[in-house]
Amino acid sequence: MADCLFCKIVAGEIPGEVVHTTQRTIAFRDINPQAPLHVLVVPRDHYANAAELAAGDPAASAELVTTAAAVATAEGYDDYRIVFNTGAGVGQTVFHTHLHLLAGRSMTWPPG
Ligand code: IMP
Repeated sequence: MADCLFCKIVAGEIPGEVVHTTQRTIAFRDINPQAPLHVLVVPRDHYANAAELAAGDPAASAELVTTAAAVATAEGYDDYRIVFNTGAGVGQTVFHTHLHLLAGRSMTWPPG
């Protein structure tokens, strides 16, 4: 999709620190990490949010989660948080589905 930041990272048009790839997903480090491990897992195809991805490509939706788990394991973390923000009102700023993977510090609940 034109003018989508994460489509451009998927396409290699702008740089990303890629840590893992699968058939349907790419995982790269967040540019503004909120934890010692902060990776974004995105589908290669463009969907605006998690629900649209789940409806349009359930296999890719599942692969986001298995990819996040694989990255956490590879980076040495048994405990981690995975988060989808959906909508500007809760902080979504990039409208290409992305699963946040965060680990390496204590976390509180509920999130802010
Ligand atoms: P959102 O707020 O849930 O939409 O998350 C978007 C995330 O993308 C934020 O955590 C940003 O720090 C991250 N981000 C923005 N631009 C880039 C980039 O160019 N590379 C990697 N992460 C980015």
